[in-house]
Amino acid sequence: MKLYLIGHPVSHSISPAIQNAALRACGLDGSYELLDTPPVLIAETVASLRQAGVAGGNVTVPHKQAVVPHLDALAPQAARIGAVNTIAHQDGRLVGHNTDAAGFLASVREAGVHPGGMHVVLLGAGGAAHAIAFALVDAGVSKLTVLNRDAHKAKLLVEAVSQTASNGQHVAASGIHAHEMAAALESAQLVVNATTVGMRGNECLVGRELLSSDSVVCDIIYNPAETELLRRARLAGARRITGLGMLVHQAAQAFTIWTGRTAPLAAMYRAATEALKHQEGRR
Ligand code: NAP
Repeated sequence: MKLYLIGHPVSHSISPAIQNAALRACGLDGSYELLDTPPVLIAETVASLRQAGVAGGNVTVPHKQAVVPHLDALAPQAARIGAVNTIAHQDGRLVGHNTDAAGFLASVREAGVHPGGMHVVLLGAGGAAHAIAFALVDAGVSKLTVLNRDAHKAKLLVEAVSQTASNGQHVAASGIHAHEMAAALESAQLVVNATTVGMRGNECLVGRELLSSDSVVCDIIYNPAETELLRRARLAGARRITGLGMLVHQAAQAFTIWTGRTAPLAAMYRAATEALKHQEGRR
């Protein structure tokens, strides 16, 4: 069974470590390899997944939306979100799935946090934020506030998500200026960072004074393990969820789609942690 990761760039990805560990743990003969794909090559790269022996692959930045027209069908969740992170090759057909949404929910639930009935503040309106916003509405949040630097993008995301929200759910958009952030966070029980802010240095969108020991703070960035947001959350005594759980759970769901097997979560967590430690050592 051959599996591939389509993205650009992809050399930093730890998905091969996670998926190859899962294949080994299940005693499956197969490999998961990187396919660095510049945008001009997207059509022929996706078409190459139709070869015999290829079970599918994952899709990452910047192709999660661009692959859609090259597929034969979309699973319902991928169609709603408008983005694909997993492709399954079955009987000559390529079907697009989105496991980021379910992976996010599985990771917060694994951490003992159940978003149903909560007021959640979601920072970001990019690809990951789209998946998470739909997941949170599906999970039954009472209120979802999407904050984004480009407030228009937050508004578009809120419009899309509102179509599937139920009557009692309130979904709102906002910018990220200090007063908007303070107003949104005042009554929030869960804060999720789905922006790229925090990947480098001590950058952070949320002031320490806005976090308290009552907050739950989730940063979907997994490298570094403790972002500046999570450091501030620790200092505030807040409960914290790192991006490692979402990374492993979205991978686990993809593995099950390709193989039909229950994913070996412990082996996948171990492989992810080791690969991140290895990357940290090379920094
Ligand atoms: P994306 O589509 O490029 O979206 C980037 C988001 O970050 C946008 O909302 C953007 O706001 C915001 N942003 C970027 N620079 C900013 C700045 N200086 N100030 C304020 N906002 C800024 O990226 P993505 O694919 O959604 O990924 C977002 C993050 O999630 C990445 O760090 C990625 O590694 C992580 N991720 C983790 C997992 C996981 O499994 N744990 C899965 C997917 C993604 P504008 O719209 O205003 O530009």
